[in-house]
Amino acid sequence: MNQGELINLSQTFLARTYAPAPVVLVRGQGCRVWDADGKEYLDFVAGIAVQALGHCHPKVVEAIREQASRLMHVSNLYYIGREIELARLLVENSCADRVFFCNSGAEANEAAIKLARKYSRDHYGTDRYEIITMANSFHGRTLATLAATGQEKFRLGFEPLPAGFSHVPFNDLAALEKALTPRTCAVMLEPIQAEGGVIVADREYLKKVRELCDRRNLLLIFDEVQVGTGRTGHLFAYEHYGVEPDIFTLAKALGGGTAIGAMLAKEAVSESFGPGTHASTFGGNPLACAAAIAVVRELLEGNHLSQCRKMGAYLTERLVTLQKKHPPPGGQREGSRRIRVLPR
Ligand SMILES: *Cc1c(COP(=O)(O)O)cnc(C)c1O
Repeated sequence: MNQGELINLSQTFLARTYAPAPVVLVRGQGCRVWDADGKEYLDFVAGIAVQALGHCHPKVVEAIREQASRLMHVSNLYYIGREIELARLLVENSCADRVFFCNSGAEANEAAIKLARKYSRDHYGTDRYEIITMANSFHGRTLATLAATGQEKFRLGFEPLPAGFSHVPFNDLAALEKALTPRTCAVMLEPIQAEGGVIVADREYLKKVRELCDRRNLLLIFDEVQVGTGRTGHLFAYEHYGVEPDIFTLAKALGGGTAIGAMLAKEAVSESFGPGTHASTFGGNPLACAAAIAVVRELLEGNHLSQCRKMGAYLTERLVTLQKKHPPPGGQREGSRRIRVLPR
């Protein structure tokens, strides 16, 4: 079937949730992809922040091939070697002590929300469950993560959403302090707002948020679904800030293209997830974990992170230069922003 015929078929059989570009991609290698008619493209999308090592990285392909021929799925009714191995790799290279695996970013955030509520209930009683998140944030499309998402357009039509979320402007400490109530149990944010327009948190702001959370016994949750796993030149974005979250979440780039999510937490917090409290059929699936092990190892051992820092600094510098050289006509427009530079 050629590309046009495939696109016509999609109109008949797929739910209408997407409005894709009229292209059927059939092959990828590094930062290039090819469509069903053989046309080559330079890929600036990378599967929406997923293919951080490029398409079909040989080590990831080999890990998947090897694991697929050995064991694909057994469930968490048994110990899973690959799951344990990946958890150890993540823990030994992060501020977290324990990992819960699932299949997507929304699920990882859902797990973080549930853990924050459970921890607060275990330690402070039933009336303390509210989570403050940020305007323009994006945390996923399940009902709870939609409620957490600070963008009205995603929520419209799906009300009522789970209660217990409020939103404050990003990078605004005073607004956050003002929004705290005796019911607040956690603050959740993306260190760099991704879907919200690539908005970088100020270093001072994140430090102050951490201090505020410590002072008020609130959990600090970082959604690193999009900016974690090597995409900012460190394995995790929080490393740029010298600020450690109590809980953070990963997905997108973690699986090298397989579906995997992870919720990582400090020991004291993680204790609130005992046997039976949370679960996922596919969580810790050997295939996805084998791929993720290959991704994380390659990030740690290859030169991707230093290359990413170098190219990121270059791109930022050139963009700032361009912005200065070509100010918007009539001066800075409302809504336009200066380019914020990521702390080292
Ligand atoms: C993509 C994204 C999610 C949702 O991840 P899914 O895998 O699509 O469920 C959550 N948070 C952030 C910051 C994201 O970019």
